[in-house]
Amino acid sequence: MKIYNTLSKQKEEFVPIEPGKVRMYVCGPTVYNLIHIGNARPMIVFDTVRRYMEHKGYEVNYVSNFTDVDDKIIKAAIEEGVDASVISERYIAECKKDMEALNVKPATTHPLATQEICGMLDMINTLIEKGHAYKVEDGTVYFRTRSFKEYGKLSHKNLDDLQGGNRSLLVTGADQKEDSLDFVLWKPKKEGEPYWESPWCDGRPGWHIECSVMSKKYLGDEIDIHAGGEDLVFPHHENEIAQSEAANGKTFARYWMHNAFLNIDNKKMSKSLGNFFTVRDISEKYDLQVLRFFMLSAHYRSQLNFSADLMEAAKNGLDRILTSVENLKYLQENAKKETLSEEERALLTEAKSFEVKFDEAMDDDFNTADAISAIFELVKFANTKTSAESSKEFLQGLLDEIRLFSDICGLIVDKKEEMLDGEIEALIEERQTARKEKNFARADEIRDLLLEKGIVLKDTREGVKWTRA
Ligand code: AMP
Ligand code: ZN
Repeated sequence: MKIYNTLSKQKEEFVPIEPGKVRMYVCGPTVYNLIHIGNARPMIVFDTVRRYMEHKGYEVNYVSNFTDVDDKIIKAAIEEGVDASVISERYIAECKKDMEALNVKPATTHPLATQEICGMLDMINTLIEKGHAYKVEDGTVYFRTRSFKEYGKLSHKNLDDLQGGNRSLLVTGADQKEDSLDFVLWKPKKEGEPYWESPWCDGRPGWHIECSVMSKKYLGDEIDIHAGGEDLVFPHHENEIAQSEAANGKTFARYWMHNAFLNIDNKKMSKSLGNFFTVRDISEKYDLQVLRFFMLSAHYRSQLNFSADLMEAAKNGLDRILTSVENLKYLQENAKKETLSEEERALLTEAKSFEVKFDEAMDDDFNTADAISAIFELVKFANTKTSAESSKEFLQGLLDEIRLFSDICGLIVDKKEEMLDGEIEALIEERQTARKEKNFARADEIRDLLLEKGIVLKDTREGVKWTRA
């Protein structure tokens, strides 16, 4: 299996630190808003990487953080007149709903920055002791960038070029830095902001330190893969490397993977430019499986342009697979023969050849575009080689093969089964009981569950009524 490593700018054979195991860290979102479809790209891409590795037999320890303390969260909290935690908790819950709808598996651990402050204090302390960090008068702690000789190795930047470029960043407060390249590890609190006590000042961490600390805590000093969007290469990941390697004295991550950006109308999509769609916006028009399919139809290192036409094309592509699965299931339910004929046995062996193609594509730096072509070829093969005369076993063999590929891509190809009226009514009754017992969390959970299945509840004078959306 080959992975393109941003560090070496080459595809490299994947060799895990510990045989059979993969330790993987993916930088997660800052939670102050609903996630946009750009944020969904790394989630989908690296979830697919994880699924493929699991398919290959690796045990994957997958860690992805939520940045739950940050200027934007604090700003949103001040605007709403609530605590910052109200904002972050709300959007973590919303993000998890989107992830589920996109069929992104929950990480092994989803650490939160605010829960890991102790570890951050420890690492900052170590960096100060080792001479890699220093405190200035107002209590800010900076990383001494030039003390880490390999700084720039990930982004392939030259320190002296950076020095020139960064001069304009010397703003008020930052002039206490020894060098304009130095970056913040800890900063003093401002009025009305969340803060923690520290040996340097009451304050909060800089952004980069959280990932170094969480990665160390949940995966160890050395990990296999560190990933995120390409905008994170510099400065975020460069700074993470400097912090981790200076503190731990070991190589931080062996493979650095970065997804290219999702653009909109061929322009960078971002919250600050205001030209973005949230995942929730898309869910109003499409099943989110279509969005997942759309993302995987391009290689993760290629820029991807979002447009209505491409989403329609993705919908049609996914429908081809779904329809084929429906047909195979229909044929299977009505099949007259149980067991494979000799001819069918040979055909199933032929179908296996698509597996080779699929694996070859995925082994080549997770080329999901080619892997999806292999699924299409398999679907075409299944459509042409089956009929009302096919045996159940043959049809099952083909279904298994399609489902195997789709599962690796995280695509759900079996149409959702409708909930039975009885099941719905039982859940409504459970919700009523939960409400009476003031267990509102459970009551809301049931409402959301029903909503997900397209069941809308309405409280009326005659009790709760429900309709299928
Ligand atoms: P943020 O919340 O901005 O830290 O972003 C969370 C993740 O989404 C990071 O890995 C970003 O690199 C990634 N990301 C943000 N915008 C885009 C985009 N338009 N296309 C692809 N990835 C993005
Ligand atoms: Zn990070």
